[in-house]
Amino acid sequence: MKVGVAKETAPGERRVALVPDALAKLTAAGLEVLVEAGAGEGAMIPDSAFEEAGARILNRDDLYGTADVVLRVQKPSGDEAKRLRKGQAVIGLLQPLLDPNLMATLAERGVSAISLDAIPRTLSRAQTMDALSSQANVGGYKAVLLAANAFGRYYPLLTTAAGTAKPANVLILGIGVAGLQAIGTARRLGAVVKAYDVRPETREQAESLGAGFVTLKTQIDATGAGGYARELTPEERAAQQAELNEVIGGMDVVITTAQVPGRKPPVLVTAEAVSKMKPGSVLVDMAASALGGNVELSKAGETVVTDNLVTILAPENLPASMPIGASQFYARNISALLL
Ligand code: NAD
Repeated sequence: MKVGVAKETAPGERRVALVPDALAKLTAAGLEVLVEAGAGEGAMIPDSAFEEAGARILNRDDLYGTADVVLRVQKPSGDEAKRLRKGQAVIGLLQPLLDPNLMATLAERGVSAISLDAIPRTLSRAQTMDALSSQANVGGYKAVLLAANAFGRYYPLLTTAAGTAKPANVLILGIGVAGLQAIGTARRLGAVVKAYDVRPETREQAESLGAGFVTLKTQIDATGAGGYARELTPEERAAQQAELNEVIGGMDVVITTAQVPGRKPPVLVTAEAVSKMKPGSVLVDMAASALGGNVELSKAGETVVTDNLVTILAPENLPASMPIGASQFYARNISALLL
């Protein structure tokens, strides 16, 4: 079987579906690996590194013409979808529910599409294929670094001859894969970390990483199917908001990671909450997209500085901003599925 690694064409996408280190296992299993010229450039991997690992470099026409399976990070563009033909397969983070038209095109053309984001995550055998987790992990780490960079003060407690710097108070909203990595990263940088989630079982996970769990007087248990959170009722949302607003006002950095699969993300930080934050505070909205975000005032892909001098970051594709590390993990996920 010939597997072809496509060069990503989505704006800002720097990841690549396979890295040279992943090739040995695939070729040992009898797969022939083809790589589109320049596919690894965004992740600083030259074509020569793929060649040394046993891959053949092809141009786009030849890659799509020859490969039995096309490997990608993001869904194919319209032009790329038209290059795929009957009997071929395409594997990637295709997000089928967000673009049903593309899926219909692939189906009409007789292409098999396997979406890594649709693999059941609770299946033990599929844990190594869980690209949502591997990429959320990168995102959680990077969000903390972005916030530290935008924050005009120290994260750790520092005592120096020139005075003492107080540690930063960091709040992580949503304790899933990204949130747990964000807690760990902020702690390693010396911040005092608090975290909150609507799934009560996350308390122990947050505490084991050194974060204090925010307990609201209104007890909410929104554990839903498959370990995910369900959407809150309007009453639950109002009660949560009032209490969260108070906590948010006292924070220097707030990172939000809360998503509800297939739905608009819940607003956790309202304009009113932001108005109570101190000048110089920083928010990172990891859930921001065209669908909305967790922070009412965030604008996907932009940095907003409010009238009260709070910086709101809403990066759209954090894993792509750490393409080498993210591609290494992704390559493990996609290789596990292929094998
Ligand atoms: P996600 O990105 O969908 O959501 C992030 C977090 O936001 C979740 O913890 C969710 O509970 C929380 N959230 C949702 N609405 C909220 C609200 N209104 N207020 C506060 N927090 C809210 O989640 P994810 O990181 O992809 O994973 C979520 C769950 O799936 C976790 O329990 C995770 O452990 C589980 N998971 C299981 C496996 C497995 O079994 N192999 C693999 C990966 C993830």
